[in-house]
Amino acid sequence: MKYVNVIGAGLAGSEAAYQLAKRGIQVKLYEMRPVKNTPAHHTQNFAELVCSNSLRADGLANAVGVLKEEMRILDSLIMKAADANAVPAGGALAVDREGFSGQITDYLSQHPNVEVIREELTEIPDGPTIVATGPLTSDALSAYIREMTGHHSFYFYDAAAPIIEKDSINFDKVYLKSRYDKGEAAYLNCPMSEEEFNAWHEALVNAEVVPVKEFEKEVFFEGCMPIEVMAKRGRQTVLFGPMKPVGLEDPKTGQTPYAVVQLRQDNAAGTLYNLVGFQTHLKWGEQKRIVQMIPGLENAEIVRYGVMHRNSFINSPVLLRPTYQFKTRDDLFFAGQLTGVEGYVESAASGMIAGINMAKYMLGEELIEFPRETAMGSMAYYITHTSCDGFQPMNANFGLFLDLEGRVKKKEKKAMYAARAIEKIKECKELL
Ligand code: FAD
Repeated sequence: MKYVNVIGAGLAGSEAAYQLAKRGIQVKLYEMRPVKNTPAHHTQNFAELVCSNSLRADGLANAVGVLKEEMRILDSLIMKAADANAVPAGGALAVDREGFSGQITDYLSQHPNVEVIREELTEIPDGPTIVATGPLTSDALSAYIREMTGHHSFYFYDAAAPIIEKDSINFDKVYLKSRYDKGEAAYLNCPMSEEEFNAWHEALVNAEVVPVKEFEKEVFFEGCMPIEVMAKRGRQTVLFGPMKPVGLEDPKTGQTPYAVVQLRQDNAAGTLYNLVGFQTHLKWGEQKRIVQMIPGLENAEIVRYGVMHRNSFINSPVLLRPTYQFKTRDDLFFAGQLTGVEGYVESAASGMIAGINMAKYMLGEELIEFPRETAMGSMAYYITHTSCDGFQPMNANFGLFLDLEGRVKKKEKKAMYAARAIEKIKECKELL
């Protein structure tokens, strides 16, 4: 009998297994816990939430809310369990974590098409396989994937600066210019006076950081230095480092500012910008406060916060197709955080696409690429089409969606993105 191996029963693997099993495909679901644990999981349950119990914003005003709605429409096990185990959390969808993962574990363990095997896989087996072993993939399997994909295509750490939406930048203050006008003007520059820099520096050195977990300590040796650590070494370290103003005169005044924060385009569509040299380990609330103190970024919408943590992921722009299928082996798919999507919901959504497409592959049907108008499709497109140079994991956000046609008022944009996504996903449902 034909079957599919799914390696890892986390957020992505559980969703992928469900999508296969409900389509009549036999699944061997490999999960190494409790035989072998990761440094962050505490139970033997599938789809364990390793940190927060929130699946972030619900409702359609936010891209991750749209993503959840798309998954509900396409019948997601993760969303069914989340909705059934929701706890009060204002505009967010938070869950009773044990009820949530317990329900998923029971459902899959009892499914006649799913055989659960509690074992660590140290290699990718022959035959149809989905690899969904997550950001903390075991060392042996990491080494195998690294060998298979080439050493430059497997990353162990994620050291990223915050990314913001271009639409939220105040262009009355921010200007486009490259240092000494070399080449095409490529950077957006946020100028700071001495007074503004002093206040900002003071806030940064006193801001709260996320405590570093024991297993993550090595990231600071391998990764680059966080901006707050640089700032603590002294004002000059940042003034002669990432905030160096020379060659960046403000065209409005003709003066060189005291300090400059530079923003670099982050996606091909030019809707997202990252803060150059601002990789950080600050708490998310603190990041928002510190970023919004920068002139021109007072209303900045952060679509992805800076992180510095252990996070295994492959170079998807080189290795994967938007169906999450491996480019050089048709019966191999990757899913979850390992592909460079970031977050519980995004991981589960990628598992859904990989599961649906593996089922289609097994049934000899044409695979489906979700359209870029949808949250699911925009993420798949991002991880497979972004520049492979400095590829970093990404949360769902409207900046990744295909642009709306015609002129649209800024305040109406989100609702229009959401309505279009829901319409498109309903069309996709007809093809499943
Ligand atoms: P996982 O859910 O981790 O599932 C992978 C599974 O594979 C695990 O069950 C693991 O035991 C198993 N496995 C690993 N190697 C093998 C092997 N060789 N053989 C068999 N099984 C194996 N995202 C958020 O949205 N909110 C948060 O608060 C959040 N906090 C995080 C905190 C930490 C410390 C980390 C590392 C990540 C966090 N994330 C968070 C990011 C991410 O969304 C989650 O890690 C998410 O669980 C990823 O889903 P996944 O399915 O890709 O991996």
